[in-house]
Amino acid sequence: MQTDVVEQFKVLAIFDFDHTLVDGNTDTWITKLLPSTMQIIREHQRNGWCWTNIMDKVFGILHEENLSKDDYVRCFESLQFTEGMKDTCHFLQSKKIPTIIISDSNSYFIDHLLERDSLQNAFCCTYTNPAVWHSNGRLHVEHHHEHDCKQCPQNLCKQKVVQKHLADHNLSYEHIVYVGDGHGDLCPCLALKKGDYILARKEYKLLKCLQGENQSEVKAKVVPWESGFEVLKLFQKLFET
Ligand SMILES: [Mg+2]
Ligand SMILES: [Zn+2]
Repeated sequence: MQTDVVEQFKVLAIFDFDHTLVDGNTDTWITKLLPSTMQIIREHQRNGWCWTNIMDKVFGILHEENLSKDDYVRCFESLQFTEGMKDTCHFLQSKKIPTIIISDSNSYFIDHLLERDSLQNAFCCTYTNPAVWHSNGRLHVEHHHEHDCKQCPQNLCKQKVVQKHLADHNLSYEHIVYVGDGHGDLCPCLALKKGDYILARKEYKLLKCLQGENQSEVKAKVVPWESGFEVLKLFQKLFET
């Protein structure tokens, strides 16, 4: 039997979206349209609801209050990419480095913000919760997938996404570089190997976990970052050596 040829690349870049590529949380950002929805989010969190289901409920309430897609677009005008991240995306794109997004936000928010800032071609795949606008003008969001990981929220295990991406594309990489900030990024980061890099945002949860209780499980090199320019610098160094 013939074995499949696995194509080897130098670097795979993986980005989280909220508080990483953009400097804020898209889901809580949209509650600015109706601040009372923050209260609803907290209540449902206390009752153990999955975050994606809570957001779907919030979108329903925004619709009942006659807030439209145009209002969403206006609300996001004040949400910008983190300093230096656009430069990083442009560098990766110019060097044709395979770059993907894995995010617990949703496909509408991400597509909108990438298109707004002309970055949609910088990424070869976006893995997130699928969101669609129904004909009545309501946004609906669903779980990305089902999985059996005990560490991750019911709707998304980013480690499973990485595994599936590598298997589906039949590719291998010298280095995987994972850029993130949050607790949802911990599971995929702990699966990274020696030679890989975890770029964890300073003062955020992921770095605290990696330097705290999970320290002994970390095999990849952890590089803390404050702005996207430090992320850019690491990619430039990896690409040039
Ligand atoms: Mg994040
Ligand atoms: Zn997981």
